[in-house]
Amino acid sequence: MTEPTHIVHGVPFIRTGECNRCGACNCEKWNCPHFSKDVDSKTVCAIHNTLTEVCKICTRDKKSGWYDFGKPVIHQVCADFPNHPWLNVIKNKQCGYIFTEIKTDGISIKSQLDAIWVK
Ligand code: SF4
Ligand code: SF4
Ligand SMILES: [Zn+2]
Repeated sequence: MTEPTHIVHGVPFIRTGECNRCGACNCEKWNCPHFSKDVDSKTVCAIHNTLTEVCKICTRDKKSGWYDFGKPVIHQVCADFPNHPWLNVIKNKQCGYIFTEIKTDGISIKSQLDAIWVK
């Protein structure tokens, strides 16, 4: 299987690893209607296998961060998460995913951006 490639600020990365269900991507904080916890206290996404499909449930609550101008939400943001090597959950290694830069001519653009990256 080919790992997904993400391009962030013009720098291509390969994402490897897998979700350890730590919950640090804030499903709980966002009050997502699909969020729950397993008996082992690990986070569970009830629609994990259908994340790219249109969802009507989570648009019912206008106060929800998931309410998107009354339109059905596609959980692409969740399906793609994490998609960014500078996310705090990546930097602090809490997330089970790892980003590896695809260097061009042996030059690391990430190391240059790391120095100027503003959270
Ligand atoms: S739909 Fe997204 S925010 Fe909601 S539980 Fe699943 S992964 Fe978390
Ligand atoms: S932060 Fe990463 S490892 Fe933790 S639940 Fe989210 S995707 Fe999974
Ligand atoms: Zn939904």
